[in-house]
Amino acid sequence: MTTRRGQPALPLDFNLPRDWREIQGRDGRTYLQFTTHMVTFYEQTYGEHSRFFMALRGGRLIGSKCTTCAQVMVPAATWHCPNCNFAEMREVELPHRGILAHTAPVTVFPSASFIGDAPFARGYVDVATDAPIASYLPSRLRTTTGLERPGIFVKGIELKLVFEDERVGSIRDIFWVPMTEIPPPLRNKQPLLASELNFASPVPPEVKKDPAKAAAKDRAMAAMRKLASDVERSRRAQADLANRAFVLGIKTGGGDFALDVANSRLLIREGLPDKSDFILVADDPDVFRAWVNDGSLTDAAVEGSLWLPNKEAFQVLPALDRLPRSTRRDLREAK
Ligand SMILES: [Zn+2]
Repeated sequence: MTTRRGQPALPLDFNLPRDWREIQGRDGRTYLQFTTHMVTFYEQTYGEHSRFFMALRGGRLIGSKCTTCAQVMVPAATWHCPNCNFAEMREVELPHRGILAHTAPVTVFPSASFIGDAPFARGYVDVATDAPIASYLPSRLRTTTGLERPGIFVKGIELKLVFEDERVGSIRDIFWVPMTEIPPPLRNKQPLLASELNFASPVPPEVKKDPAKAAAKDRAMAAMRKLASDVERSRRAQADLANRAFVLGIKTGGGDFALDVANSRLLIREGLPDKSDFILVADDPDVFRAWVNDGSLTDAAVEGSLWLPNKEAFQVLPALDRLPRSTRRDLREAK
């Protein structure tokens, strides 16, 4: 069983430079401030939760079921029913399929501990659907169809339980995927492992080429080329792109184009590139004109009007989103 020994509890690069500086107090006086730290390490048991998390490590999902009222708790938070004078609860094996109990939110701007993980979706899954009373299991939700976005994890859809290949005994050892995305031969497999599904190269959605959208695409190209030429004269915008290099192939209903970032410059080209880091899809080309006019590609991705394959693609958007404002500030100051 995995123990992940040898990895530090606190990341080794989690640190601050030793520093002394003068700061202004609320009373207007000057005070001296220095950087220091406070760390406490401790070992914690899972207590009564241990059985549940040990089962996850073994590729099983269990609940505790009251022998009196038949309610099922998942996670198995206690083994003595709080509703029946602490009557004994027995272990029940739960199915690896469930129903999403409510439409799940997609978290885009998470708290500090989850920054590398965003965007992500999580929701409450009804697993013990046969029980008279049952809790919902809070879990991660993932899709094989690209970045998590609205419209996928809606109330009532059927979900398949998937286990990470390497498990430690954490609620992050499991996640759920819409059953319709699971190849039929795998739908009854228990446990189904993450490595048996393809998350790495999702198929981009089809866009119907619509001649009515060609004009919108031309307007978007003109706006982006203007932005690219403004970047040539904006040190702020060039700083936004410094040390970044990527090629985006972009499919829209009005036609395809490429967006290159290299050497602190932006380049817009007609047609899909031969090689790209990411393929993005937007049925409406206006998504890109709106971006140049102080909109945001991040917002478009969050709303679902811009399709992205994965988080890595999402992480290139903030630098692009800064360009319209950076160029405008620099060009205004130059006047
Ligand atoms: Zn009970």
